[in-house]
This record gives sequence, structure tokens and C-alpha cells, in this order.
Amino acid sequence: MRIPLVAGNWKMYKTLSETKEFMNHFVKLLKGSEKAEVLICPPYTSLYVVNELRQNTKIKLGAQDVHWEEEGAYTGKVSCNMLIASGCEYVIIGHSEQRTYFHETDETVNKKIKKSLEKGLIPIVCVGETLPQREANQHHEVVKKQIIEGFKDILDIKNTVIAYEPVWAIGTGRNATPQQAQEMQHYIRQILAELYGKSKAEEIRILYGGSLKPENAKEIFSEPDIDGGLVGGASLKPDSFYQIVLAAQ
Ligand code: PEP
Repeated sequence: MRIPLVAGNWKMYKTLSETKEFMNHFVKLLKGSEKAEVLICPPYTSLYVVNELRQNTKIKLGAQDVHWEEEGAYTGKVSCNMLIASGCEYVIIGHSEQRTYFHETDETVNKKIKKSLEKGLIPIVCVGETLPQREANQHHEVVKKQIIEGFKDILDIKNTVIAYEPVWAIGTGRNATPQQAQEMQHYIRQILAELYGKSKAEEIRILYGGSLKPENAKEIFSEPDIDGGLVGGASLKPDSFYQIVLAAQ
């Protein structure tokens, strides 16, 4: 059985004091009986304080990116060991903003997934097409390539999460319809079945991401191949994030 995961991607938002304010409010909302696993991926500067303030709750901690090298002269980068020592269990890899603005390729995604799995961090691997690609009916081909190249030479995907995030739905207020998301996420599971076998593919959680809100989450999460969500904007407010957590039952 796949336990739904609701992950908040805070992107480049929240100073330390804003992080504390969020956490103090959010932990009070959690009852502990929520069916979904709850994950917060703050900026690196807030990892320590989220880790402190999540103690005695079921909130999991994740980062928004990682470098694939063990350590070294890579100014501005952070390693898997550093994330693990900061309390992270998860790391987002290949987010479309990384791909669009920071030269992330399927090759660097592949290196990051390999290193994360080797170290025991759970990668949340983001895939998704742009609007011109969808309009040109290339969305299946694009996502298939991202998965095949991203997972090249990776023999076991047991500890992996995939997030289908159509680029045209991220931060735009325009979400995919539940049917569009389900159709693609079923397709992704079929690709995983071809690569790793049907039973492995059935174990993998596939999240939807793209303008999830309290108003649309329940309908989207009710689709059979949607195992929770990766939430940007709506994860910045404790109440809206909590409503989305509750929608994943
Ligand atoms: C995201 O950052 O992964 C995302 C889906 O953002 P938003 O929810 O704001 O569209």
C-alpha cells in the first residue's frame, strides 16, 4: 500500500523568523492522525530550525537540491552527507526551476539520484512537460525521456518518489485537470513497470505538483495513480498546507 506524501517546497521563501512563525503555527494544527506523510523542504538556511521545531511531530524534512559529489571545492553547493546530518530524509531533484534557470539536465539529475540513493536519501524526482510541448502533443515523449535518462543505470528504485509537475501548471494558478494528471501518472507507472517490473512500479509513490490548493487537492488526490502532492505556493501558509495534507486520505 502506498502511503500518500504531501511535500511542501518552499523554494526561496522564508527567513529564519518566518520559518519559526510557520512551524509554531503548523505543528499546532497537526493531530498526528493524518493519513498522509507530511514533508517540508525549506531553503538550506532554514533546515536546522525546521528540524528543531519538528521534534515530537511526524513532519519529515527534505532539501530542494543536492550536489552529487561527496565533498570538495564546489562553492555554493551542499552534499548528501550535509543534508543527512541536518535531519533530511528526502531531497527534491530535477525541479523544473532547476532545469530552466540553473542548467539541470537529465545527466545531472541522474548523478544526483545515484548519490542520494547510495547515501540513503529519498529522491523526489521531478518530471514534466512545458506548455509548447503539451500543445505539440509531445508530453509523453518528453516525460519518458526524463525518466529513462534520469534513471539510467539505476538498478533499484525502491526508495524513490516521482513528482509529475507539468511546467505550465507550476506557480501559474492553472492546475492540470485530475484526468490529465491521472493519465500521465498512469503512463509514468507503466514506464517504471517496463524498466523495473510491475510490482516495483506499484510500490513507487507518484506525486502531482502544479498549483495545488485546498480547493482542488481532494479531487486530484482521488485519482488512483496520484499518491499525494508536491506543493509550492500553498505550502507557505500553515492553514492552506494543512488543508492539502487533510485532502490526501
Ligand atoms: C512546485 O514548486 O513544485 C510547485 C508545484 O509550485 P506551485 O504549487 O506553486 O505551483
